[in-house]
Amino acid sequence: MDVSEGVKTDVQTANGMIVPGTFRVVAGPCTVESYEQFLAGAKAVKQAGFEYVRGGAFKPRTSPYSFQGLGEEGLRIMSEVSRDLGLKIVTEVMDPYDIELVMEHAQVLQIGARNMANFSLLKRVGAAIAGTDHGVVLKRGLSATVEEWLLAAEYVTSSGGDNVVLCERGIRTFETSTRFTLDLSAVIVAKRLSDLPVIVDPSHAAGRRDLVVPLSKAAVAAEADGLMVESHHDPREALCDGEQALPIGALLDLKSTLQPFASAMGREVI
Ligand code: PEP
Ligand code: MN
Repeated sequence: MDVSEGVKTDVQTANGMIVPGTFRVVAGPCTVESYEQFLAGAKAVKQAGFEYVRGGAFKPRTSPYSFQGLGEEGLRIMSEVSRDLGLKIVTEVMDPYDIELVMEHAQVLQIGARNMANFSLLKRVGAAIAGTDHGVVLKRGLSATVEEWLLAAEYVTSSGGDNVVLCERGIRTFETSTRFTLDLSAVIVAKRLSDLPVIVDPSHAAGRRDLVVPLSKAAVAAEADGLMVESHHDPREALCDGEQALPIGALLDLKSTLQPFASAMGREVI
């Protein structure tokens, strides 16, 4: 990674997802479940004042018997709703075979924690987004060191895809009170070692919604460039990760809750 090129906040990254002087919030459901569900979730993201919506069409579930996502139909739902509402999409691509399809519908491709070390996927995504406006969000692997995470990012960048945003989403530790352990020191270390922006996913790290807002405030203070949070219009009915989803009320308050912290860091929440 070349740290000599200067301060990364001068650079607009990932299709405008990371903008100098701002703190980007990406919000939305874990999974696209239906047109109605995604529309309700995306409307709330818009109403909350955010421009990027997340949602999974291809889901990397721990169990093969869990809901695996709607696949291409999920992508179509996301792109229709997002076009109507004027939102941009972050969604996961799990298989090299699906890269082109996902790029047709989404501006930013997520590589999930479980695929961080899938080097052929990283190389193919890098080559596919080269010369396009598409970006990549690269989640940190569940047990990956910062060095392994940064080298994974280099698989994408050295294949031609320079719009990479790193995402800390919690690592495996002995702790059981949270789903994973949010490693905020890794956010700071990654930013010192590389010129890539770093965002934080407090939802998968915590696994419980009561910690999402406090961890989001901490992410702002840890110099993160943004957040990716899960939200749902009816968390109890969510097909995936309902326990960690912010309900709509909390999502609508998120911008004003975080802005004082972001102001202290010289950033505007967007
Ligand atoms: C997700 O963002 O929905 C997801 C599956 O995240 P991770 O890869 O971090 O577990
Ligand atoms: Mn999830």
